[in-house]
Amino acid sequence: MHFQFDEETLLLIESMRKFLKTEVLPVEEKHKALIAGGKMSTEVAALGAQIRKKAVQAGFYTCHVPKELGGGGLPHVTTTALREEIAKSGSVILGMFVIGDPPCGPTAMLMMLNDAQKDRYLHPLMRGDVTTCFALTEPNAGSDIAHIETTATKDPNDSGQYVLNGNKIYISNGMFADFFQVFAVTEKGKGMFGGISLFMVDAKTPGITKRNMPSMGGDDFQADIHFDNVRIPAANLVGEEGFGFLGATQWLSGERLMMAIQAVGLAEYSLEIGLEWAKNRKAFGQPIGKFQGVSFPLADCATQLEAARWLTYRTAWLLDQGETAMKELAMAKVFATDVLQKVVDQVLQTLGGVGYMSDHPIERIYRMARVFRIGGGTSEIQRKLIAKSLGL
Ligand SMILES: Cc1cc2nc3c(=O)[nH]c(=O)nc-3n(C[C@H](O)[C@H](O)[C@H](O)COP(=O)(O)OP(=O)(O)OC[C@H]3O[C@@H](n4cnc5c(N)ncnc54)[C@H](O)[C@@H]3O)c2cc1C
Repeated sequence: MHFQFDEETLLLIESMRKFLKTEVLPVEEKHKALIAGGKMSTEVAALGAQIRKKAVQAGFYTCHVPKELGGGGLPHVTTTALREEIAKSGSVILGMFVIGDPPCGPTAMLMMLNDAQKDRYLHPLMRGDVTTCFALTEPNAGSDIAHIETTATKDPNDSGQYVLNGNKIYISNGMFADFFQVFAVTEKGKGMFGGISLFMVDAKTPGITKRNMPSMGGDDFQADIHFDNVRIPAANLVGEEGFGFLGATQWLSGERLMMAIQAVGLAEYSLEIGLEWAKNRKAFGQPIGKFQGVSFPLADCATQLEAARWLTYRTAWLLDQGETAMKELAMAKVFATDVLQKVVDQVLQTLGGVGYMSDHPIERIYRMARVFRIGGGTSEIQRKLIAKSLGL
């Protein structure tokens, strides 16, 4: 067993650190007022687009995309290490533009596209010219994704088109995406096995309306999207009709690993802040870290964080061995996101009043941490998957 990164990964980690230090963090510092609190806006998206272009040139943006598609083809362990660097760098928001991850960038799901679709959607995405979003959740179907109600019916008057009707909610990057990856029912009653299809839908297609859904994150990133008799060419159907769900499971697997390591990185960054404060803040004549009431909870945080980190890396390693690792992906996601919540709460407690102030980084991470247990499949759904894999 080896618990060390190989030479190539170490070099890539080093160049990621350099990229963040020279291309990302100074831009955040320069535009401090604009990005304070991690609020996504049109202006921040424009700054992000510049970073995305630089990340494309540096090879980071598509480092996770298979070589045969023109990406870097890095193993999961290495991309996990790079994502950890971004998450623990202290980047407020622009770090999310460095690797083309969900929801905005090229994911494993887009490997299902045919050559014409790759030319039209995947390649511009990989060049950083456009962004996308993943439109699955609906008002009446979140966890229960097999029961989505959006329909795509073949137009009886024109065999070359589908007509899309329905409503998707909470769609990340929905306000900015150039095209949507939309799941819709093509055959009622068949559910996930033969009844749900995946379509590429240009954001400017007539019949689409969208509005921002303000969130606890305080940003303009989630959208409520309505499709009202939206006509889509049959050429935009991905794969076989009725079998779009394969795409959803691939997307969600990628997102779970990504969220697990982001949670680990954010928790590492938070813990550093807490430790620094505990060493320097004095009360009753000594640093507060000398009180067991402060140091033991932080020791527990460090222990749980270590466990979350290795669980996540082992999951990445299993994927590199060709395993689907459904159980481990669910375990890593549920455990690492719980640990993030515990760590950031404990660090805020250690900081006292200053941690609750809006201009302190912990205030933002505290709010962000909450969504990690909901997005990409809730913690309960992860536990359901784990229980199922245990034969329950
Ligand atoms: C900030 C944010 C960004 C998002 N981005 C996207 C996106 O880009 N694309 C997209 O498609 N979706 C997105 N979502 C939606 C997200 O995936 C769903 O919110 C999530 O899957 C839960 O669905 P729901 O909100 O409908 O809750 P529900 O499914 O209604 O669940 C409500 C509660 O019941 C629990 N529950 C449900 N079923 C079970 C069960 N069988 N056993 C135990 N407990 C259960 C849930 O865990 C939850 O606690 C986003 C959500 C948020 C908050």
